[in-house]
Amino acid sequence: MLAAAQRTRHYEQYRWDVRHTAISNAADCLKRIEPVSLIDYLKHAERFRDNKAWSFSWSRFHHSIPGVSRTAILSPHFLPGLHSRVFSNPWDPALARYEPEMIAGPIDTLRCFAEAVRRGATWIPPLRHSVIAFTGILEGPLRADDRELLWQAFGVPVYEQFFGFGGDLLAAECDAHAGLHLSRDAGYLERLPSGEILVTFLDNPHFPVLRLESGMLAEWHEAPCECGSVEPRLVNLRRKAASRVRESVLAASM
Ligand SMILES: [Zn+2]
Repeated sequence: MLAAAQRTRHYEQYRWDVRHTAISNAADCLKRIEPVSLIDYLKHAERFRDNKAWSFSWSRFHHSIPGVSRTAILSPHFLPGLHSRVFSNPWDPALARYEPEMIAGPIDTLRCFAEAVRRGATWIPPLRHSVIAFTGILEGPLRADDRELLWQAFGVPVYEQFFGFGGDLLAAECDAHAGLHLSRDAGYLERLPSGEILVTFLDNPHFPVLRLESGMLAEWHEAPCECGSVEPRLVNLRRKAASRVRESVLAASM
C-alpha cells in the first residue's frame, strides 16, 4: 500500500493517509481507498505503474498438491524446481521422454494440447497424478467444459490455480476440490456484498494495484476445509458478466 501511494500517480491522493496509518490499521485504511474498475486499470495502466520497481522475470511454481515427483510446467515464465521441469510448449519431444506425473500450464495451452491428444495428433505417456490449469483475471476461471476436456484427454484429476496478471498466485484449488484457497502472500482479497471479489496485489511490484474490481463473483467460505487447511476459500468462482469483461479488454487494447 505504501509503494502504491508513494510511487504511482493514481494513488498519490492517498499518500498522506497511508503514511500516517499504523500497520495495525492498514485494513481500515485500505477500505477508504476507492476501488478501481478493471477497464480503468487496463486503459490507464501507466497510472498504476511503479517505474522504480525491480522484480524477477520468472515465477516459482507452487505445488498446491503434495506428493508429486515429476511435474512438467508448460510455460516459459516459470523457474524449474527440484521436482519440476519447464517446457516452452507441449510439442517439445523432451516432454514425453520426461514422463511427467503431472502437467501444469495456462488453460489455453492445456486446451490445445488436450484436443490434440484426444484426436491422436500427439501423445505423452499416461499421467499418474493430475493436471493443473492456470487461470486468471483476464482468462477467467476454469470452465466446466475445459475440466471435462482435460479429464477425457488425460484421465487424471484436474486442479485450478488462479493468478493475477503475472506469476502472482492468488488462489489454488486443493486436494478436496472444495474451492480455491487464498494465497495471502500474493494478494489481499475482499468480497463485496454483491459477491464481487476485490484484489489488492501484494506481489506485483510493477503494478501495486489496490482494490481492483476483478469482475469475478464467488462465495467466501471460512470454515476449515476437508483437506485440513484453514485458509479461506473462494467457491463457485465465476465471471460477473463474461461479455462485459471481454468488451473491457477489447476496449482497453484499442
Ligand atoms: Zn481445501
